[in-house]
Amino acid sequence: MPPAPPSAKPPSPQQLALRKLGLRSDWDLALHIPLRYEDETRLTALADARDGSTVQFEATVTHAEVSLGGRRQLRVTVDDGTDTCVLRFLVFYPAQQKALAVGQRVRVRGELRGGLWGREMVHPTVRPAGGPLPTALTPVYPSSAGLAQAYLRKAVSTALARVAPPGQTRLIDTVPADLLNEIGAYRLMDMGSSLRFLHHPAPSVSVAELEDRTHPAWTRLKAEELLAQQLSQLVARRERLRFTAPALGTGAFPGPAAELPQALLAALPFGLTNAQQRVVAELATDLARTVPMHRLLQGDVGAGKTVVAALAACVCMQAGWQCALMAPTEILATQHFAKLVAWLEPLLAPRGLGVAWLTGSQKKKERTAMLAQVASGEAGLVVGTHALIQDSVVFARLGLAIIDEQHRFGVAQRLALRGKLAGELTEPHLLMMTATPIPRTLAMSYYADLDVSTLDELPPGRTPIVTKVVSDERREEVMARIGAQVAQGRQVYWVCPLIDEQAEGAVVPDDGSLLLQHSGRGGKGAGKEAQLLRNVTATHAELCEALPGVNVALLHSRLPTADKQAVMDAFASGQVSVLVSTTVIEVGVDVPNASLMVIEHAERFGLSQLHQLRGRVGRGAAASACVLLYTAPLSPHGRERLKAMAQTADGFEIARIDLALRGPGEFLGARQSGDALLRFADLETDADLLAWAQRTAPRLLDGHPDLARQHMHRWLGGKSDYLKA
Ligand code: ADP
Ligand code: MG
Repeated sequence: MPPAPPSAKPPSPQQLALRKLGLRSDWDLALHIPLRYEDETRLTALADARDGSTVQFEATVTHAEVSLGGRRQLRVTVDDGTDTCVLRFLVFYPAQQKALAVGQRVRVRGELRGGLWGREMVHPTVRPAGGPLPTALTPVYPSSAGLAQAYLRKAVSTALARVAPPGQTRLIDTVPADLLNEIGAYRLMDMGSSLRFLHHPAPSVSVAELEDRTHPAWTRLKAEELLAQQLSQLVARRERLRFTAPALGTGAFPGPAAELPQALLAALPFGLTNAQQRVVAELATDLARTVPMHRLLQGDVGAGKTVVAALAACVCMQAGWQCALMAPTEILATQHFAKLVAWLEPLLAPRGLGVAWLTGSQKKKERTAMLAQVASGEAGLVVGTHALIQDSVVFARLGLAIIDEQHRFGVAQRLALRGKLAGELTEPHLLMMTATPIPRTLAMSYYADLDVSTLDELPPGRTPIVTKVVSDERREEVMARIGAQVAQGRQVYWVCPLIDEQAEGAVVPDDGSLLLQHSGRGGKGAGKEAQLLRNVTATHAELCEALPGVNVALLHSRLPTADKQAVMDAFASGQVSVLVSTTVIEVGVDVPNASLMVIEHAERFGLSQLHQLRGRVGRGAAASACVLLYTAPLSPHGRERLKAMAQTADGFEIARIDLALRGPGEFLGARQSGDALLRFADLETDADLLAWAQRTAPRLLDGHPDLARQHMHRWLGGKSDYLKA
């Protein structure tokens, strides 16, 4: 690296703080919209001001003293000719004392209080009197420690003057008027004026319009933001269309030449549901094209996504290509592997193909053997965890990549798997699966670059799960019920959250990563780990004691892999009747004989997560139940949420409630880089603007490519990568 030029000064603490807030370019600053405003445009006579209101007045200092009785403080009396007021400062500097010496004329702004000895203000803002009054409201910006409002205001004003100089409004508009007009002329406002207005609104403006973001300036800002998002997804999509993928099959399903998928269909102990048939046909059509498939398969828990994935893998292998299936946890990958081997190995063996297996915990020797099969192409299907995307994994000819529970993976991981087909501008087909259904507005915005297939039908013969909300005080009753279930030969899950007391009781996902982080560093980490696991180990001990003679096992991500496997096997085979576990079983685990689930501290989980967990039962023919144990007292809001869980079994409805309650982060999963989230627009209330942005993006990109590029750069800068994949 060349040495830095001698003139390059190190960034100041303020500049560093700005960067931390993501404010680097002039446009970043111009789009840093105030949280609220203060009115410093007027002076009020003290006699006219009401107690409790925030006012600004000019007055003369008539008395000043540092009082030592009690707490040291500076007390200053001022008089504006109509009334007097005491200003109190608990922290003060010599310069302030000088500015507040008797006889000084000052401009004071603060909240007026009626005190015991007359009116007072604590820590008001004080300036010398007589300067011109601002003509606009004063912005208060989102900030962080160490970054003063004054500095931020100056930085934003300077940046704003550069990007949106007054009088040159048209220069900065990236959206031509004819496209903009479609939003509705009455709401039209050019971008420069909108920004200048939002940073420095006139004092006469309706505060309500500013606060509920309905002012035309807000409309313009939100429309621009949504357009940037749609543009970046459109660009990502077109980028993808430049790539080619191998054409797999004929597009017809099952199709005349499709012996492998047909053989699987014939071997399955059940027939496909209508929804499964429809989705498999959609996949077959995509796979036959040379444009890489980019499809999300969403289906509620238990809808039968795995068999759909297996059939897609068969289409792929029939065409002579390899398929990879990546799952987020070792438990899930193991289970997929077991199921797929049982289904496929008898069909693949005669063709000289097999199913390979890759995970992080694998023995070196086994791994080497597996890698050789993947590289030679002998492994028609490769199942595994993140271990699949390591550099050492080289596929002979990867035609289809399937990602289960896709929201558990990051963009980088998806990209890495897509990169496993060697060759310039070639990519495998990509199928992502999720049991967390994505509400329509989200699908239209964040997932605009994806095609979506939906399994909207459960396989027949399922009995609905009865969900009960029960106070933890009735824990013993619940345990007795478990005993009764076990006596009938049924199996039970008891799920406990990992609770991080230090992080204000936050629930920690047990995908292994967090515990690993903590245990890696010896003594202190081990303490933290023990603390996180306290809940689950204590409950395990309690159940062992309460249910003598019943085989109660414990499962969490920190058990050695072999132990985890042994526990899961024992539960799957029925040897273990009660499985006390963390959320490691959240995704995909399938033990049809399990018919009761108890979720401890249910109030701490997200609704979609509860739904996922609950989906582990009700997989067989037996009547199933889920008990949501909460620890009293429950907030009214918490009660509402759990009640909603008990009342609906529909994953889409639950996702909708979750979206309304918690925002989109939950759905975007590892994609949820704050940068990529919408800051101004709201998907529900701005649905019409979203529709406009969707229509307008291709027209802008095709009609005015330079403007489109400028628009994206302005809004997304270097962040657009987050929106891809
Ligand atoms: P998920 O969509 O949650 O991944 P799975 O693929 O694990 O669901 O399927 C849940 C269970 O339903 C499995 O035991 C699976 O074998 C079974 N299953 C899938 N499709 C059907 C079907 N059409 N008829 C009956 N059972 C099915
Ligand atoms: Mg699944």
